[in-house]
Amino acid sequence: DSAERGVVIPDNWPGYPLDLFTFPEHYSGDLDCVYIPHGVIMDRTERLARNIMDDLGDRDIVVLCVLKGGYQFCSDLVERIKVLSCNSSKSLLMRVDFIRLKSYLNDRSTQDLQIIGAESLSVLSGKNVLIVEAIVDTGKTMKTLLTHVRAFKPNMIRVAGLLVKRVPNSSGCLPDYVGFEIPNRFVVGYALDYNEYFRDLNHICVISESGKQKYKV
Ligand code: 5GP
Repeated sequence: DSAERGVVIPDNWPGYPLDLFTFPEHYSGDLDCVYIPHGVIMDRTERLARNIMDDLGDRDIVVLCVLKGGYQFCSDLVERIKVLSCNSSKSLLMRVDFIRLKSYLNDRSTQDLQIIGAESLSVLSGKNVLIVEAIVDTGKTMKTLLTHVRAFKPNMIRVAGLLVKRVPNSSGCLPDYVGFEIPNRFVVGYALDYNEYFRDLNHICVISESGKQKYKV
């Protein structure tokens, strides 16, 4: 249903023309369009925070931020949950931990997935864990990560993903909280990178062909 898929962006969504918004001058020519404006991301995040609060309120959780792409979403989501904890009868005690994954080169998923910082995961034992990820593409990363986290025997695992791609070869592994369901296009911005570039862009955008060439490794 719609709550599980999040905001559904259709295949024919052209995005917004770049000149209707602001973005850093150094990326002019590197982008095709603004796909999801920063304000819309924030508005959706606010609602996800409320859903999480409704489900998990009055518990202790460990927020596990999946770096690097997840840092912005995680930070904004935690901020929203904090506001709700101050202004409603329920509150959520949050600890925040970090894990780093790497699987992409250029705009292609590579076979080997590296998990960095996994030593610290023993603190998850018996805890309620909220994994926070920026994007689920094939779902392979999420599946691997879940297997890994489960091994530390947490009491409960929930996953929040800002973006989920509609892809044919999906693993069927989907987040419990989804911000947006998007077409199968490579997006950057809001901490999502292309070879480490575009993290310093507020909006989620589609990269242009020349942008891909410029930052190719
Ligand atoms: P999966 O294992 O689900 O196929 O890939 C997930 C990972 O690939 C994400 O955590 C992210 O690092 C990267 N990824 C997948 N699609 C995109 C995209 O459109 N843009 C960016 N910047 N990274 C992506």
